[in-house]
Amino acid sequence: MSALTELYEEIANCERCVLSQSRTNTVPGEGLEDAELVFIGEGPGFHEDQQGRPFVGQAGQLLDQLLESIGLRREQVYICNVIKCRPPRNRDPLPEEIEACRPFLDRQIELIKPQMIVTLGRFSMERYFPGAKISHIHGQPRRMGGIIYYPMYHPAAALHQRRWLQLIEEDMSKIPQLLAQADGIAEMELPQDAEQLSLF
Ligand code: URA
Repeated sequence: MSALTELYEEIANCERCVLSQSRTNTVPGEGLEDAELVFIGEGPGFHEDQQGRPFVGQAGQLLDQLLESIGLRREQVYICNVIKCRPPRNRDPLPEEIEACRPFLDRQIELIKPQMIVTLGRFSMERYFPGAKISHIHGQPRRMGGIIYYPMYHPAAALHQRRWLQLIEEDMSKIPQLLAQADGIAEMELPQDAEQLSLF
């Protein structure tokens, strides 16, 4: 059993927050265990909760298409979420729920050791760029601790507004080159507070 599979078992038994009471299945994440590229969304929706798999609903179909547009299939990357259980009625995750899941996400990243982390949406962005505005920093890579962090809008946004779709497609199209030039992206300190983020 791989360390990631062991972690999935731990997640399946988790009762650290109230979401454990209403979930059908935990949705730990899936994909290549040593992926170069990790996508982190917000949290499971209805279909994800039913199937125990991330991004299998409409937003997931769009993510699959976006991946295809840069020549990748989902099996070639790793896909997960900030929280591993569906919030009731798909409400936004609460700070304490994100905090309860934080060690799981950290461990996933530690085990996978990706070159690049793509954050999808503001909850995932907030995890690495606290206090930042997604409209300011989407599509701008930052290298911190040897990993490139690349904030993007959430694909679900594009399902409702075509202008987001165009932005998401543009940001996605830059990923292959960023990966190829990873060493050329300047290393930055992890932002400690929102003030520093005005630099971005
Ligand atoms: N939206 C997310 O953020 N994650 C999923 O897994 C599905 C939809």
